[in-house]
Amino acid sequence: MIYLMLYFLVGGLSSCAFFGYWWLYKDRVENPASLKLMLIRATAYIFVWPVLYWKWLKSQDKTRFITHPDFVLPELSPANAEAVKLNAQKAALKAQKVQQEWEAFVDALPQCGSHIMYKGTDIYGERLNGRFIFETADLLPVLFDAMHPEPFDIDEGRDIDETDVQALNVRNELNEWINTNRKAVKQEHYIHRWLRTYDPALYVCNVVPNSFDRFEYIASEMIEAGKGQAHCKSCNTVYDASDIKAVDGGQGSWIFGELYCPKEHLLARRKKIHFMGAIQN
Ligand SMILES: [Zn+2]
Repeated sequence: MIYLMLYFLVGGLSSCAFFGYWWLYKDRVENPASLKLMLIRATAYIFVWPVLYWKWLKSQDKTRFITHPDFVLPELSPANAEAVKLNAQKAALKAQKVQQEWEAFVDALPQCGSHIMYKGTDIYGERLNGRFIFETADLLPVLFDAMHPEPFDIDEGRDIDETDVQALNVRNELNEWINTNRKAVKQEHYIHRWLRTYDPALYVCNVVPNSFDRFEYIASEMIEAGKGQAHCKSCNTVYDASDIKAVDGGQGSWIFGELYCPKEHLLARRKKIHFMGAIQN
């Protein structure tokens, strides 16, 4: 009997302390619990006060005891941290699997010969009438450059306050993130892996597989650099790269890079820049 009395004595005192805590701090928290809710809680804790202490010890945000439950953010418990780690491992495994599939795909392709043909496509991959022919040896340095982009500096040439440590840190982190992403294994690596198998003595023209959809960027870079030739099927003529017109077209928030033969037939079109929402200056 004495133990039972002791139990309720502790419960009663705890409940009072808990209620006092609410009374003292209710004006300092964003969404304090109502008096009614607090009375219900305090009464309940007279009976189940060990639960109160258990929760108190486990929670990082003590204000949850005196705020409205709807507005308490979920905590990142150790179990969640474990899940985050597990998800990161899963993502890494998936990336590894994708890489293996790409490598298997590339390694099953026939060996590259002296020339590569790219069939011009429109923005959603629709076939156009341009057939671009490049020397494989000319493509390799372009691919290499695409795989090893120049370090990007977000604030290059812009005046910033060099004493603002926080701004400098944010800029450094952003630059690091952008540059790490740019170095990530992308399709260009697999295109390069394929082209590297080439034999200059093998006088063959390989067609670029459809899976290499990023080849449109390589092709336009080659043409704009004056390398290669383009066969326009509409006029049935082969033109030198220097005869092809490269223009920027637009539609909605997109800017397209377009390649035309001298007689204005569209040979290839690719998405170049996308403006997200309205531009405000
Ligand atoms: Zn034409």
